[in-house]
Amino acid sequence: MSKSLLPAPKHVYIAEKPVKVERDSESFWIMGAQKRGEDMIILSPYSTIENIIHETAHSVGFGEIGAQIIGKLGSLRVQFMPCIIRKQVKYRLAEEDVAERLGLKEAGTHYTLREKSKTAYQVKHFILEV
Ligand SMILES: [Zn+2]
Repeated sequence: MSKSLLPAPKHVYIAEKPVKVERDSESFWIMGAQKRGEDMIILSPYSTIENIIHETAHSVGFGEIGAQIIGKLGSLRVQFMPCIIRKQVKYRLAEEDVAERLGLKEAGTHYTLREKSKTAYQVKHFILEV
């Protein structure tokens, strides 16, 4: 991720299985999530570059429209101008299972994430399957 574009999130959580959000009577698959006000992003096995940049934009305070624009522009930059990625960032794997802390519940082939209110997590837009 280019240093000039967005700061790399401090905590990156990658779920090994798809994540389905359950909110009231609705449920939908998500490609990424971000807990507002926290320097973190949650990714699913199907997250794209755009999803990563989108959630990172949320993590530094951008709202939905800003995150969508930055996600699209950022993924185009990565696609067409790979030389802009100069600064390499490094992550270490924390040896701990954080599913419970993130609210992810094991459900066989996927995780479910129960949303209490619409403000607990940002809106997600990439619906994989119903
Ligand atoms: Zn969003």
